[in-house]
Amino acid sequence: MMTIIANAIGGRLVPSASTRIVPVFNPATGEETARLPLSTLEEIDAAVASAKAALPGWAATPPMKRARILFRFKALLDAHADDLAREISREHGKVHDDALGEVARGIDCVDFACGIPHLLKGEFSRNVGPAIDSHSDRQPLGVVAGITPFNFPAMVPMWMYPLAIACGNTFVLKPSERDPSAPMLAWKLFMEAGLPEGVFNIVHGDKEAVDAILDHPDIKAVSFVGSTPIAQYVYERGTRAGKRVQALGGAKNHMVVMPDADMDQAADALMGAGYGSAGERCMAVSVAVPVGEKTADALVAALRPRVEKLKIGPATDPEAEMGPLVTKAHRDKVVSYIDTGVAEGAELVVDGRGFSLQGYENGYYVGGTLFDRVTPDMTIYREEIFGPVLSVVRAPDYAEAVRMINAHEYGNGTAIFTRDGDAAREFADKIEVGMVGINVPIPVPVAYHSFGGWKRSLFGAHAIYGPEGVHFYTRLKTVTTRWPAGIKSGAEFTFPSLK
Ligand code: NAD
Repeated sequence: MMTIIANAIGGRLVPSASTRIVPVFNPATGEETARLPLSTLEEIDAAVASAKAALPGWAATPPMKRARILFRFKALLDAHADDLAREISREHGKVHDDALGEVARGIDCVDFACGIPHLLKGEFSRNVGPAIDSHSDRQPLGVVAGITPFNFPAMVPMWMYPLAIACGNTFVLKPSERDPSAPMLAWKLFMEAGLPEGVFNIVHGDKEAVDAILDHPDIKAVSFVGSTPIAQYVYERGTRAGKRVQALGGAKNHMVVMPDADMDQAADALMGAGYGSAGERCMAVSVAVPVGEKTADALVAALRPRVEKLKIGPATDPEAEMGPLVTKAHRDKVVSYIDTGVAEGAELVVDGRGFSLQGYENGYYVGGTLFDRVTPDMTIYREEIFGPVLSVVRAPDYAEAVRMINAHEYGNGTAIFTRDGDAAREFADKIEVGMVGINVPIPVPVAYHSFGGWKRSLFGAHAIYGPEGVHFYTRLKTVTTRWPAGIKSGAEFTFPSLK
């Protein structure tokens, strides 16, 4: 019997009545593992209505009580981390340890949200005028929604709902239709932790569901993570409908390798950052920028054998370093980018096309691919490939490396590998990118900082999770208070007025 994935509305699993149904695949084998109905507009409405009904009670629940449910949720996530990782791998394809890493980084956000009583504390000023005090407070927005991508099916939703819910909002999540099962398991655990019905709802769907969320008058804010064209669309349509929107988009992350860097260390860092999760990370390094010809020759020489030796396999293989791509269509797209790179004159050092794994011939695999002598005018440099394809762009000097990164349309993450503190400091200061690593290839901020790119990698004023997440999911209220004097001095029969 094929599993049919249900929505989660009002604290219950609710089978969808939709006739629009898409398959969910195991990318390691190419087998269909489940069917996903794409929710009807009535079902989206029902999820929003359930969140709206739960809102007054939840917003009025003392933050400490909300936090206690989050503590229990965190304990359940810890206990089920392995199950969650398996759900992720089965539909996404990433190897088990990598999936466990995703779960751990998601749990970090729940950890952070457990501190909500402290995070919601406002400010107080005494005597802002004669006997007048002022205090500020952060209040929830109402019903908020999250729309998430396929590449971190458990973690990216956890960048959103634990914090939004801890702040006193109620939530509607629309996960990626490619790997919807991990967020469903997390929902089940959150309900087990004692979350009241309707506080957290999940509806599955595609563009139709997204549009319904963006236009819905009862949804006050939308968090989106996905590709740049859709992020821009979501930002424009959502804000036009009067909503607060944060929309995180795609990336093309460069790692600069200075001549004084340790080449083995840099090559190892590039392997993990370029090929981990088959390159399907928004913080993946897809462009290596060695500075100077000698550095470039040494780097390519260090990379080539490493890329050739990459261990590719299904998540069930404990030896595998990298799994398949998420869908057949995405695999074909990545292969066609490699074709384009060759046609545009880049030097193909390691070719991952045609890779096949015995026993898994129908899986969506592409081998590790390495290009040298890529130039900024090439399609494979300009566009996000989102696959195991690393491009080496040779920069004659440091200034050119910086110029290139600053000229790129994306500004999500970047890194520099060097022993020169002065160069590193200057890089961190001048680079037009939101997240910078100094000898750290994937500088994803921890849960108590916030995550966000610059330029076309983020639309909206707020980065996601951490302190910026608390600001995004709350609105500021400032109360100025003056108490009439005189009550203590006995009865007064004149109408009270400020004296
Ligand atoms: P995607 O943009 O295709 O999909 C993201 C979400 O948007 C999904 O829920 C999907 O159902 C919905 N969607 C897709 N097409 C739509 C349309 N035409 N109209 C309205 N909604 C639509 O992204 P993806 O392929 O799932 O994920 C990969 C992308 O996400 C990459 O570009 C990656 O860089 C990006 N990403 C960015 C970050 C970040 O933090 N900046 C993090 C993870 C992933």
